[in-house]
Amino acid sequence: MQYISTRGRAPALAFDEVLLCGLARDGGLYVPAVWPLFSRDDIRALKGLSYAEVALRVMQPFVGDTVPADALRRIVDETYAGFGHRCVAPLKQLAPNLWLMELFHGPTLAFKDYAMQVLARLFDHVLAARGERVTIVGATSGDTGAAAIEACRDRANIDCFILFPKGRVSPVQQRQMTTVDAPNVHAIAVEGTFDDCQDMVKAAFNDAAFRDAYALSAVNSINWARIMPQIAYYFWAAANLGAPERPVTFAVPTGNFGNVYAAYAARQMGLPIDRLVTGSNANDILTRFFETGDMEIRGVVPTLSPSMDIQVSSNFERLLFDLMDRDGGEVDAILTAFRRDGRFSVGANRMGPASSLFLAARSDDAATVETIRRVRDETGELLDPHTAVGVGAAERTRKHRDPAVPVVALACAHPAKFAEAIERAVGAAAPLPERMADLLTRPERNPVIPNDLAALQGYIRDRVATRGAAA
Ligand SMILES: *Cc1c(COP(=O)(O)O)cnc(C)c1O
Repeated sequence: MQYISTRGRAPALAFDEVLLCGLARDGGLYVPAVWPLFSRDDIRALKGLSYAEVALRVMQPFVGDTVPADALRRIVDETYAGFGHRCVAPLKQLAPNLWLMELFHGPTLAFKDYAMQVLARLFDHVLAARGERVTIVGATSGDTGAAAIEACRDRANIDCFILFPKGRVSPVQQRQMTTVDAPNVHAIAVEGTFDDCQDMVKAAFNDAAFRDAYALSAVNSINWARIMPQIAYYFWAAANLGAPERPVTFAVPTGNFGNVYAAYAARQMGLPIDRLVTGSNANDILTRFFETGDMEIRGVVPTLSPSMDIQVSSNFERLLFDLMDRDGGEVDAILTAFRRDGRFSVGANRMGPASSLFLAARSDDAATVETIRRVRDETGELLDPHTAVGVGAAERTRKHRDPAVPVVALACAHPAKFAEAIERAVGAAAPLPERMADLLTRPERNPVIPNDLAALQGYIRDRVATRGAAA
């Protein structure tokens, strides 16, 4: 399997190279040159298999022979054996044709664990085979950093440094990063905002000498290996609900468009998906796009669903590439103009297939709180605010969907992660799962640094050197 860039000018690469480089050299994102196809028999054969077995079958064609089959199997088995529910991604019925797929049974209680845990193990495997190491540096407003730290702990060939804005992530999110006791992972509080953290990370990558000396690498969702493992849970859900005989619709709250793009990928691979319903909060750039064909930047406002507080959805570029019939030059021209003007339009003729597949709706904070309260009253289930945005979108798009097709709404995080929204909706926070009930009282390791590149570089230099000397 070869991967090509959405901007059309970077060389085609194999999976292991795409894994390590993340972004393509022409500024594009890597996508598979062709979609592997699952026949109806292949899909039928998934029913009744374990989650790990489904994930292995879905990922195998993307990885090809760049990772030996037994190593890939070990990576996948080890990843999902560590999850907190024996079904890994259990389906729960909420109403006659509405299901919830719980994706919060990983170590940091959000869906990002399902891919990040695989990604870090793949990194470790490929690096060991090449005799190399990397230093992962990233900024987080919450979920991504926690997932990255948990995924990188105990990996022999990775050092991981995650910056977060001091005092501006939720107590649960902070403790998930700062209580991990492993010498190669570091959660660093920065005296500044999330944007300051991101700017420091960018500056560290732009310092070519530093980047090369420490082999800096990133694990954000522009990396194809973050998308790939997420495709598996769409196959898992559809097969368990009767695919290929019965199609399904998915409702996915969206920020960077990574999760719902994985659903689109599943459909390209032959999974019978009827509709993809995307939900956004007040930061509704994608909802406006699917309504009008116009992509237009506006300012970001903070909401109760912070993991979707984004201005531009980075993974949208992958869908745009297909809408433009995989013409990288055209994607490059559109996105260059977008950076300059803050907007672009995709003509109705280009939207064709996408406009009959995607449905979109937004929920502001008041509507999100209302959805959480109503679903709790009607079913007893507590939805986290991101999940509630997806369920809200499913409800608001009901008259545009075939009522006979079941809807699977993705439960993207455990409600205990977002205490404020849950308290507003039902008057009390949700308890943490038993295996991490003591999270808020575990000892923290949480250095603070000023908003200053030299301070970050000094911190990394000291820690990586120390680790090297100890090894
Ligand atoms: C990351 C995240 C999202 C947004 O997912 P994208 O792939 O960026 O669209 C939604 N909900 C939760 C809980 C998240 O952690």
